[in-house]
Amino acid sequence: MKAASFEYCRAASVAEVCALLATHGESAKLLAGGQSLVPMMAMRLVRPGWLVDINEIAVLKFVAVEKDVARTGACTRQCVVERDEALAARVPLLRQALKWVGHIQTRNRGTVGGSLAHADPCAELPLVAQVLGARMLLRSAKGARTLEAEKFFSGPMATSARPDECLEEIHWPAWSWRRTGSAFTEISVRHGDFAMVSAAAQVAIDGDGRCVRAAFGVGGAGGTPLAFPKIAARLVGTRLDDAAVSDAAHAAAAETQPGSDLHASAEYRRHLAGVLAARALREARERARSL
Ligand SMILES: Cc1cc2nc3c(=O)[nH]c(=O)nc-3n(C[C@H](O)[C@H](O)[C@H](O)COP(=O)(O)OP(=O)(O)OC[C@H]3O[C@@H](n4cnc5c(N)ncnc54)[C@H](O)[C@@H]3O)c2cc1C
Repeated sequence: MKAASFEYCRAASVAEVCALLATHGESAKLLAGGQSLVPMMAMRLVRPGWLVDINEIAVLKFVAVEKDVARTGACTRQCVVERDEALAARVPLLRQALKWVGHIQTRNRGTVGGSLAHADPCAELPLVAQVLGARMLLRSAKGARTLEAEKFFSGPMATSARPDECLEEIHWPAWSWRRTGSAFTEISVRHGDFAMVSAAAQVAIDGDGRCVRAAFGVGGAGGTPLAFPKIAARLVGTRLDDAAVSDAAHAAAAETQPGSDLHASAEYRRHLAGVLAARALREARERARSL
């Protein structure tokens, strides 16, 4: 099928994007890498009246690694983020997750902001954002505001961004403990497919091997990616032994409410959530111990 007809505009600045969104509202869609939007238009699942291309806006494409945070412009290609060594050193979970996102070809076009705005509950980058507590900088003609990932993802393929807002930057917290380890894992039918269920974890340990901070979550087991800060907090002070990790992972799985579809039943997804969360936590722990 071909997309329904639409008007196309290549915006030259964020101000122009905001003005176009203010004028056309819900009938306008931003075009970033087009890896999700274009197939959806071709299948006529979405029919924007206006397509606002943000690919030529240089200020939306950058990686900046600062003391406690790494910032990425929303239109930064996934392959650029994946290859950035300074970013991988400070927020390694991003590179670990990106290896699972689609294929080299889709990562060459797909953007970080496009993946977050698309908000597929099985997508890897939204899970990383949720686990790390990333902050989204949204801009409209009325001004800018920042939303925590927890408030940004509002449901399956839905965010709290208003139709007149453009995702401008993403702020990824960088942990300062020297012995910080992270890991990402998932189960999908084939590598490069969307995950059935995925899990991400990050832990920091002190010189004695005791956990000083832990964060973990699962994707594909609910309407949004899920993080479990209260359960993760129970790991603080432990040595992250297998029993503690397994208890935390299974407590988290019990809180999930996955759906059933052609790929997996709800029961199987919940089982995977526990298994994968434990696996990600153990891998993160081993990386932290090796430092
Ligand atoms: C074969 C294939 C396999 C894939 N496998 C995976 C996978 O395993 N995991 C995964 O996560 N993804 C996968 N994807 C999707 C891919 O990661 C996309 O790149 C991503 O979902 C969307 O990014 P994009 O830049 O292409 O956005 P687009 O497709 O251009 O846009 C997606 C949506 O986000 C909106 N949007 C884009 N940028 C902004 C912005 N700055 N502000 C506000 N709204 C914005 C658009 O209007 C649109 O609604 C796959 C895609 C393909 C084609």
